[in-house]
Amino acid sequence: MKEKRTEISELGEFGLIDHLNENIKLRHPSTIKGVGDDAAILDKGDFVQVISTDLLLEGVHFDMSYTPLQHLGFKAVAVNVSDIAAMNAIPKQITVSVGLSNRFSVEAVDALYAGVNAAAEHYNVDIIGGDTTSSRAGLVISITVLGEVEKGKEVLRSGAKDKDIICATGDLGGALMGLQVLEREKEVFMADPKMQPQLEKYAYVTGRQLRPDARMDIIHELRDLNVVPTSMIDISDGLASELFHICKQSGVGVRIYEDKLPIDKQTYDSAVEFGLDPITCVLNGGEDYELLFTIKQEDFDKLEKHPDVHFIGHVTKSEEGKLMVTKSQTAVELKAQGWKHF
Ligand SMILES: [Mg+2]
Repeated sequence: MKEKRTEISELGEFGLIDHLNENIKLRHPSTIKGVGDDAAILDKGDFVQVISTDLLLEGVHFDMSYTPLQHLGFKAVAVNVSDIAAMNAIPKQITVSVGLSNRFSVEAVDALYAGVNAAAEHYNVDIIGGDTTSSRAGLVISITVLGEVEKGKEVLRSGAKDKDIICATGDLGGALMGLQVLEREKEVFMADPKMQPQLEKYAYVTGRQLRPDARMDIIHELRDLNVVPTSMIDISDGLASELFHICKQSGVGVRIYEDKLPIDKQTYDSAVEFGLDPITCVLNGGEDYELLFTIKQEDFDKLEKHPDVHFIGHVTKSEEGKLMVTKSQTAVELKAQGWKHF
């Protein structure tokens, strides 16, 4: 008899995660939340600890031909800190593990760690351990981050309520356009190595791709303003995909407005240049590492004047669906593409 074989691509990334987690049993009462949010939550008495981990692989998550190692080290930390921010927590420690091939010199590893150290200083975290091993399949970096938040102030994906206001920080779609630009310049260079990449014009979007910054500034400001979001997630896979997570876990619907979506001019212009729809880039572009959160209506006044928090819509009842009101005032159904690694 032929053995059953299911391709991972049939499940997709999220399907695979669900499948692997089906049989997990939590054995300790101190494990408040295991898999299923931006970070796990552990009971530590007066506070809760949040933990998140990420794996970055050469050729899947980054391309060494245009990724400076120092930026890569910084980004590896930033994407993890972003998950801690998404829990409304403050990062405290990281572990850093790397798999290195013999292509790497000590100088190259130093450059990578210069970026890791710069991020540790920027986010005020201690590097407390990790592992180093050889790799036959290119560079591998895995970072685990531990953070803390006062008990009761942790924010999950599951707390959004009907009529809450949906907020997004910064601007979206830039990291995707940065990737498009870098890939194009790589092709030009491969075809003719005498051609030097023309990147000055695209400095903002390529910076968004190569050296993203986790929005810890927003977490500190929310604290100062005494605002605890009702739900939160970081935007790593694209706005639409993250909205779907909040809808699923909170049991709600959403209505967002196209004309409220934040997009930088350089992102918009480069999308047009590449023949892409700028709004599609905003909805489905990954790796911006901004925050998506919902607040109670009564907290609106506290954030109204914030220059970098955008009110993009509101939460609805689940049966109202997931809709975007376009500039021409028609409501269209949102689709989440997310990132397909498989
Ligand atoms: Mg996340």
